[in-house]
Amino acid sequence: MDLVFCPLFSGSTGNCCFAAAHDVCILVDAGGSASRIEAALRQVGASLRQIAGVLITHEHIDHIQGVGVLARKGLKIYANEATWQAMLLSGKLGEIPRGSRVVFGTSHSFGLGRLGITPLPISHDAADPVGFVIQGGRRRIALITDTGHLPPAVEEETLGADILMLESNHDIALLEANAHYPLQLKRRILGNKGHLSNDAAAQILPRYAAAGTTHIVLAHLSQENNTPELAFDTAAASLAGHGVELGRQLQLGMSWPHRVGEIWGV
Ligand SMILES: [Zn+2]
Ligand SMILES: [Zn+2]
Repeated sequence: MDLVFCPLFSGSTGNCCFAAAHDVCILVDAGGSASRIEAALRQVGASLRQIAGVLITHEHIDHIQGVGVLARKGLKIYANEATWQAMLLSGKLGEIPRGSRVVFGTSHSFGLGRLGITPLPISHDAADPVGFVIQGGRRRIALITDTGHLPPAVEEETLGADILMLESNHDIALLEANAHYPLQLKRRILGNKGHLSNDAAAQILPRYAAAGTTHIVLAHLSQENNTPELAFDTAAASLAGHGVELGRQLQLGMSWPHRVGEIWGV
């Protein structure tokens, strides 16, 4: 087994994923308190001490809530320069020790232990938001959330990744009918720099299945404008409609806002 992956928690209220290859463990985003992340890590048999780095996709609070505390515990935090500036400006981090701050360049691959990391530019209303490809041995994980659409260059780069974590944020009808959401916010979510809907995700997935992706996890579900059943059923129907045999050719899984998801190894 080259790569292990687990969404520790995911949703519009907080996001954090675990990935490991051989002896290198990393987190992607830290959108919960350090103690919450620690507790979730224990459930996958890991601890903060083993984490070689925390990759940050963008500066929204549901991705960086625990960053300040993790940095002060000595973890290295990886983000591009614009995201660092936006995180520091937000005032949500507190003091960041010098040695904890690592800057990467969007679209420039780098190594983290034996893992290869490629940050890819996505389309979201943040300073310089990215998705990631994580490579371990011959295996790849692609993580794409918080994007209004899937940029063709990102699709090209990630097609056929062994594991794909893709955003399936909202059901369009539920969002449009939500009386608690101001029109402005609905426009933002539905816009080109917003979030992928269930329908948008479902249209994308068969192309990954056809290119050899064997594991797909739906992520960043809105707790107000979506349900796990709607997201799963929309994705499953689209895959089945393209002749994909779920459970045999491809595993389709979910991530959860308040509990650890399935651990996958490829
Ligand atoms: Zn965001
Ligand atoms: Zn988010």
